[in-house]
Amino acid sequence: MPKANFDRQPMPEQEAEVRARNFEEVNLGFPEAIAIKEAERCLQCKNMPCRDGCPVGIDIGGFINLLRMGDLRGSSRIMKKYNNLPAICGRVCPQESQCEKLCVYAKKGVPVGIGRLERFIADWEISDGVELPEVAKSTGKKVAVVGSGPSGMTAAADLARYGHRVVVYEALHRAGGVLTYGIPPFRLPRLVAETELQNVQKLGVELKTDWIVGKTITVDEILAEGYDAVFLGTGAGLPQFLNIPGENLAGVYSANEFLTRINLMKAYRFPEFDTPVRIGKRIAVVGAGNVAMDSARCALRLSPEQVYIVYRRSRTEMPARVEELHHAEEEGIIFKLLTNPVQILDNGKGAVAGLECQEMELGEPDASGRRRPIPKEGTNFVLDVDTVIMAIGTTPNPLVPQTTMGLETSRHGTIVADGETGRTTKDRVWAGGDIVTGAATVIEAMGAGKRAAASINAYLRGE
Ligand code: FAD
Ligand code: SF4
Repeated sequence: MPKANFDRQPMPEQEAEVRARNFEEVNLGFPEAIAIKEAERCLQCKNMPCRDGCPVGIDIGGFINLLRMGDLRGSSRIMKKYNNLPAICGRVCPQESQCEKLCVYAKKGVPVGIGRLERFIADWEISDGVELPEVAKSTGKKVAVVGSGPSGMTAAADLARYGHRVVVYEALHRAGGVLTYGIPPFRLPRLVAETELQNVQKLGVELKTDWIVGKTITVDEILAEGYDAVFLGTGAGLPQFLNIPGENLAGVYSANEFLTRINLMKAYRFPEFDTPVRIGKRIAVVGAGNVAMDSARCALRLSPEQVYIVYRRSRTEMPARVEELHHAEEEGIIFKLLTNPVQILDNGKGAVAGLECQEMELGEPDASGRRRPIPKEGTNFVLDVDTVIMAIGTTPNPLVPQTTMGLETSRHGTIVADGETGRTTKDRVWAGGDIVTGAATVIEAMGAGKRAAASINAYLRGE
């Protein structure tokens, strides 16, 4: 085995000026020789600290070991034991704060590119031919999954593999949750997401789209139809606003609406697709998480003159993934930090004429542990924009909790569920993902789906 070196292999990517004008994937993926070279950096630590950082506990050392020996099929089999959606996770997991954070190289230098290797193996499997996992003999039990995001589809896949009949109820016309309507194709190509979601259906999972649980059918009606258990993975997709004057003006979007128009309804290909998205020449995106970066970068690709990120804290507190921030900056997004919107101005015809902001400075840390932004007197100014996109967070979708008897919720609107098993306060009902934790990450939602599936399986088998 060649000696490990300390240079992490860079990810090939589209040039910033070119990609800022298209919706093709930014990261191009490792060629095989580079993937093996990166895999050779892995020290194969006996205690495998990186594994503790992965919410689904992938045998990271195991899959990297087979990869570096050139056994790609074997490597893929190890990974698929733990993760049904590896091509998705390899692209969107915040590895720097999960598995890669605990890699021993992270202390001395740059961690092994675990996510990049995961993506390489998953893409190789998609091109070479996907091997579906074994499905146990039918138990005759039937489980309904509500929501087809990462938590729902992971629970569905595991429940099908345990031998239960699974039906997924999805409100939208396509499966995937945020993977389909939120994360843009230049970060997660539609074909990759669709392929992995279809692989879940190939395990025998039935998908019912355009079923809004709480309206088309209720959870109690599902249970009365003879389902033995229900898993709720309805996410946290309700947009929040700042409650400042002018938020009802034409030209103000929630990030959810903006991204759904672009990603789910393919507005960027209007009129080939029916749904339009109207934006002006100068765009302000309020917020600094992944959702804000995705909104700003989508807006940029629709060819405006300027796109701003407006954020009330400093760069250190920005919650977006490091890679997304870096890509956004390279593409030409302008960051207005320590800047807080106070009102959206009206052009006299009910549309946006500008965003009035105030400069901020940072004080002592607040309850979130981040330094509190404090307004600086007399510093108001108007940012010359005609479109404002609010990306300041979302709250849990309230419909299912509101229409299901006996389901306890927290004061934040999340469903109360046991952290280990996902069991809720209602008999035969489990929940997981963002609807329980509030907005989090894809792999955390998947981990919750896995734990709930194991608990449902034990319950259905009378264990
Ligand atoms: P969701 O993905 O929200 O799925 C919930 C599903 O339930 C949806 O399909 C919804 O239509 C359906 N549903 C809701 N109500 C009903 C109902 N009443 N009846 C039937 N179906 C219903 N995380 C990362 O790890 N990395 C990233 O890079 C990243 N980027 C993000 C970018 C954006 C724009 C957004 C919005 C989020 C991002 N996240 C990212 C967060 C991550 O996507 C979520 O944490 C994750 O998708 C949560 O999964 P979930 O299954 O709980 O819910
Ligand atoms: Fe890391 Fe995510 Fe892969 Fe787990 S699934 S090993 S957290 S990249």
